[in-house]
Amino acid sequence: MAMFKQYIIVSPGQDIQCKEETLSKAIADLPPKGVLIKVHSSGVCHTDLHQWLEGGFRLSDSEYLLFASREGMGYPKVPGHEISGTVYKFGPDVREDESSLSKGDSVIVYPWIACGDCRYCERGNNDHCTGGKSQEIGMNINGGYSEFVIVPHYRYAVPLPSAISIDMGSVLGCSSLTVYNAVKTGLAELPEAGDWRSDDQFHVAVVGLGGLGSWAVSFIPLLFKPAIKPNVAITGIDINESKLSTFVDEGLIQNSFHLSTLKPPQEQASMCRDKISTKGYQIIFDFVNNPLTFDVSIRLLGNHGVLVSVGLFGGTGNVQLPLLSLGRKKIIGIHTGSYNLFKEMLEFLASNIDNIKTPTLSVYPLADCMKALRDVKEGKISGRAILKVNNET
Ligand SMILES: [Zn+2]
Ligand SMILES: [Zn+2]
Repeated sequence: MAMFKQYIIVSPGQDIQCKEETLSKAIADLPPKGVLIKVHSSGVCHTDLHQWLEGGFRLSDSEYLLFASREGMGYPKVPGHEISGTVYKFGPDVREDESSLSKGDSVIVYPWIACGDCRYCERGNNDHCTGGKSQEIGMNINGGYSEFVIVPHYRYAVPLPSAISIDMGSVLGCSSLTVYNAVKTGLAELPEAGDWRSDDQFHVAVVGLGGLGSWAVSFIPLLFKPAIKPNVAITGIDINESKLSTFVDEGLIQNSFHLSTLKPPQEQASMCRDKISTKGYQIIFDFVNNPLTFDVSIRLLGNHGVLVSVGLFGGTGNVQLPLLSLGRKKIIGIHTGSYNLFKEMLEFLASNIDNIKTPTLSVYPLADCMKALRDVKEGKISGRAILKVNNET
């Protein structure tokens, strides 16, 4: 009897356990229009850390947004929502001519599967679904820390563009999509961007140069350039000085500011403004989004500026309320992205891949998923960690 391995979080705070499952059961469990994917690589996201350690997102010192309180997000659960692999078997109701996919084709899984019926889903905003019947892979249903994964409908197994490697494909469903959404939405929130004079200083800040920030410093020039006349100067803000130096040396950012966890936010915002010689940033992407980065970012925002809050580090932010009103500043939140945006992003990536510095991948065997999670937790990864599941595909 053919067996395969799954790595399961039984309950938050406990080490992940390996469990063997029969392939025949996975095939029997396939939904009528589903597809069974043989996993090649699975990205390790910070959300996996929250699933493994805390069981939710910390809202304040006394409040948590618990996964177990949300429908289908309880435990035990196989984590992993960033998945690339190959088509292994279709569900019983998928006709031969129905899907453009064939057995063995390389695919990227779109994991944010929503109800399809609510007012958000109807308008293509499935990433904001309130229908309560989501089947998000690695969240509501079992995910990619496994040799095989069930995708409930074959349309969510999207063909891998030939320009993109199958390993890189595994980090596109969350980190890359989130950043693409953040940069596009942030730009749309700057309606006067096209009116800037070409000799104006247009400052953009990227807070956190990890897996998300790495995508951002490539996406921002490509997406902003057609819409904005002045040269866009990116400031990288991070607690890791050597990471900042590397990004400057590689020409990915024009300015850098070393954030300290020891100095007050007010002092650091003032130091950053003096160093960069700016009165404020037009747009700031906060890919960390903890109380310190939020506080510093709000203080750095210029008039009519937009703060795009992305990271899910957790905690409660502090806002100087008069500054919001006086400078007509905006704060918007971004989390993942819709199915349609995912497909648009893949086309964008495939046609611009030569001009994109893709994040460095740190590769671990699937059996070392605990080590990968610990390394992510301890900030040892520059770029993105992935689990190599099946080497032969
Ligand atoms: Zn993620
Ligand atoms: Zn919905």
